[in-house]
Amino acid sequence: MSRSLVGFVFDTLEFAREGRSVSGLVPVSALPRLLELLEGTAENALECAISGRQGQDGSWLSLTVSGQFDLTCQRCLGSMPFAIALETELQVIAPGQPWPDEELEDGALRLGADAIAADAAQLLTDLIEEEVLLAVPIAPKHDTDCAPLARGDDKQAASPFAMLAQLKKH
Ligand SMILES: [Zn+2]
Repeated sequence: MSRSLVGFVFDTLEFAREGRSVSGLVPVSALPRLLELLEGTAENALECAISGRQGQDGSWLSLTVSGQFDLTCQRCLGSMPFAIALETELQVIAPGQPWPDEELEDGALRLGADAIAADAAQLLTDLIEEEVLLAVPIAPKHDTDCAPLARGDDKQAASPFAMLAQLKKH
């Protein structure tokens, strides 16, 4: 049984320097900005893990998030399952430390890496929500099986947009 990470607050710099790690579950309902984009999947939970690392190249946090929730298809307004599996490296920038360049010395872009300002009381779910929102498509659409409001199932009825579209047909 995984622990819940809701309410987990930590000192990002200390966490990285001490090489700490923590993992557990974050229910989608604890991520309000994400929840706004979703269809009836608030009971879903995301598996999350974060670990710290201190190296010559600075203080780092590795964050992984995986799980599934339903987005709203922007073509048919039906629900659309979306699986997330993100893995990101966050460089923790201490006060007074220069912000890193966007590019590595060899000119290659540092893909999947981001920098955050050190925070002595960082709410973990804020970090997770930020990264998950970046990974969610802005206008998700079904690849296949996209039938405009053909099915009158419960999930569609629960969406105010779907209900509005249904009303307009009459
Ligand atoms: Zn669709």
